[in-house]
Amino acid sequence: MAVVVQKFGGTSVGDVDRIRNVANKVKKEYDKGNQVVVVVSAMAGVTNQLVELCGDVNPSYDMKEYDTVVSTGEQVTIGLLAIALQSIGVPARSFTGWQLHMITDEEAGKARIDHIDVDDIKKCLDKGIVPVVAGFQGVDENNRITTLGRGGSDTSAVAIAAALKADRCDIYTDVDGVYTTDPRFVKSARRLDKLTYEEMLEMASLGAKVLQTRSVELAMKYQVNLRVVSSFEEEPIGTTICDEEDIVEKELISGITYSRDEAKITLSGVRDEPGVSAAVFDALASANICVDMIVQTDSADGSRTDITFTLAQGDVNKAISVLDSNHDKIGYHGIKSDTNCVKVSVIGVGMRTHAGIANKMFHALSEKGINVQTISTSEIKISVLIADEYTELAVRALHTAFNLENKHII
Ligand code: ASP
Ligand code: MG
Repeated sequence: MAVVVQKFGGTSVGDVDRIRNVANKVKKEYDKGNQVVVVVSAMAGVTNQLVELCGDVNPSYDMKEYDTVVSTGEQVTIGLLAIALQSIGVPARSFTGWQLHMITDEEAGKARIDHIDVDDIKKCLDKGIVPVVAGFQGVDENNRITTLGRGGSDTSAVAIAAALKADRCDIYTDVDGVYTTDPRFVKSARRLDKLTYEEMLEMASLGAKVLQTRSVELAMKYQVNLRVVSSFEEEPIGTTICDEEDIVEKELISGITYSRDEAKITLSGVRDEPGVSAAVFDALASANICVDMIVQTDSADGSRTDITFTLAQGDVNKAISVLDSNHDKIGYHGIKSDTNCVKVSVIGVGMRTHAGIANKMFHALSEKGINVQTISTSEIKISVLIADEYTELAVRALHTAFNLENKHII
């Protein structure tokens, strides 16, 4: 008998018929004799409506009350799914995050899970009852409701799977797996059978919106056997996310991603002396602004240089004002920002051992006349910042250059 966590996203529980469809999927797993725990999101669109309601009442709402409001979407779906399961003869009961003592920190709107008590879940499983758990929500030490950030039900599911040492955590969604790139851009994009945690982590944080990044971090840390599958297929294969050692046929490059929420700030004429970068990034950190790519070279004459960095578009105005207020400490001549940029990345564990990837990437972009503004790399990815209007062209060109429609085993 296996312990299986099944998570269903918003589109999978988008209406009553779909909730019935989900109940049948759960039953199928249950009828195999497995112990099944279900985690659900709110019905598609509901969380967005709830967020909007908060803003309608007061645009500068209290985040703790925001959490109280937006967490309600999941409470509806757990009840409905439990009813649907009972109707087809599967004993089931619902659990909210706080009923399960899903304890989080106090960061309203983006809380992190500290601890889960799985005793009640285990008791249900032992009695043959399917626990249906609300994703995305928890409770802090002060007994306030928290939420885990948008897309947070993935993280709830993985955390429960880790705590139960589940054999599998299946994330059911509206796509049939993780693709080499966005199939809306590239028709020949290919579903990947297997992907390493590290690659998925890069993909999730670089813009492939299949899984919340945090859920992949947790899965990697606790070695949760994760699978992304479609809710709308009878026998889904999906994409398995696992350790590199568990992949026999590793691919050289596994995907091309893009992320539109990028902006760039350049400080020009910055004094080229110790402590200046620290002053810039101290100021940004104290304003809680996350910086991604950073580019700086030393000045030709040792006096002044430029520093460019990228950040989320929503943080640009805040960043400019904190830098302005630290102007004397930093000492720069000019500041300029650009929100018309996109980050495009090539990802693959094969990069660790194969040369020539960056070279091929830059060639493919230059052949299309695309200017690379900023570059950053890690062991398994190369990212470039380009102008927004070239996104589709760049993604297509790179997919073709690396011939991703076909599998390339290393
Ligand atoms: N319902 C929440 C959201 O829309 C959580 C989730 O779907 O994972 O962000
Ligand atoms: Mg999601």
